[in-house]
Amino acid sequence: MTRSISILGATGSIGASTLDLIRGEREKWDVKALTANCSAKELAALALEFGAEIAVVGNEDCLPELREALSGTPVKAAGGTQALCEAAGMGADVTVAAIVGCAGLAPVMAAVEQGKTIALANKEALVSAGDILMSAVAKHGATLLPTDSEHNAIFQCLEGNNLADVRWITLTASGGPFRTWSAEQLANAKREQALKHPNWDMGAKITVDSATMFNKGLEFIEAWHLFPVGLDRLRIVVHPQSVIHSMVEYRDGSTLAQLGPSDMRVPIASCLAYPQRMDTACKPLDLPAIGELSFFAPDEIRFPATKLAREAAQAGGAAPAVLNAANEVAVAAFLAGKVTFTQISAIVAKVLDTPMPSAPSSLQEVLAVDAEARKRAEMMLEPA
Ligand code: NDP
Repeated sequence: MTRSISILGATGSIGASTLDLIRGEREKWDVKALTANCSAKELAALALEFGAEIAVVGNEDCLPELREALSGTPVKAAGGTQALCEAAGMGADVTVAAIVGCAGLAPVMAAVEQGKTIALANKEALVSAGDILMSAVAKHGATLLPTDSEHNAIFQCLEGNNLADVRWITLTASGGPFRTWSAEQLANAKREQALKHPNWDMGAKITVDSATMFNKGLEFIEAWHLFPVGLDRLRIVVHPQSVIHSMVEYRDGSTLAQLGPSDMRVPIASCLAYPQRMDTACKPLDLPAIGELSFFAPDEIRFPATKLAREAAQAGGAAPAVLNAANEVAVAAFLAGKVTFTQISAIVAKVLDTPMPSAPSSLQEVLAVDAEARKRAEMMLEPA
């Protein structure tokens, strides 16, 4: 049976892993929409390879290049935020949400409104608009499958069990490239060093988030929305080997864990095939070669991001959206060489200390909070 699929963020790391899986079972998938921000040529090539109905760039300035690359072909070209939302709302059986940042929120919402299956990688959307998004999922009868490896692991460990029986949900964190660095070393950490993740090959923003531990902070908030066991039952443990992707401990003392290689094709495949399984070309786990699995408590002095995220979740209202927006601005500034590594957390903390906007109750209000927090963060950027 053929199923239709749209991939938002098709030119990114998650997009590439998803398309690699689709390539392996081409006859099973009908590709509707593929989107990017501005990688027009790359997007056009993918759209042609996969016979997509439409290719969309979020940045309208890149539409002429996309049009030119697709001229004379049956693939339609479109550009802009509205076009992204229309592509997301084409009613594909599965929509893979893999745009990076809060820019993915409106398209994710458009997909949710179709009441179909969404494989969600775009954690920032859920962090910024968790309650609104989860209410929309319930209202439209959509199926939200977590694609983030940790949340996918938790999702798998929860299957067939009751949330009421959960004692702890434990998110594992690799600790990133700076796990063992001193505060002094962190203050001098360079862009290239932050972009070298020890275990995972990912887009630039999430790789920096892994180095600061904001990735785990965002995931903490994401888990809070996806698996409503309460904040006091969520915890983080540093596990440098990234073999156990997360765990659930039940009240009888049983802990279930999901293990796998550090390859996003595993959790993506679990979403694409859900509730069945599919083949992947991923290397099997070689436990004797791995030898040891180790675990550490997070150090929130050197890496304050998880503390900031937990406090934002506790505060609720606009705080998670503010945290996310400030982090997006600070990471972009770090990647552009405008601020130092440790300024990322400092900027987020300072923005969270400004008067909090009122709690957003609609998508538009979340986007307004996001825009306001970005302005505040931009004002705090100091030269490195
Ligand atoms: P990448 O940076 O590799 O790719 C991002 C994708 O989003 C690209 O297709 C990019 O297009 C597009 N994009 C970027 N900005 C915009 C915008 N403003 N409007 C529309 N499209 C945009 O990111 P990743 O694939 O690494 O991550 C995607 C999401 O998945 C993130 O939320 C991340 O946290 C999450 N995730 C990623 C994992 C990974 O292993 N990579 C693991 C778990 C979660 P263009 O190429 O034109 O810039």
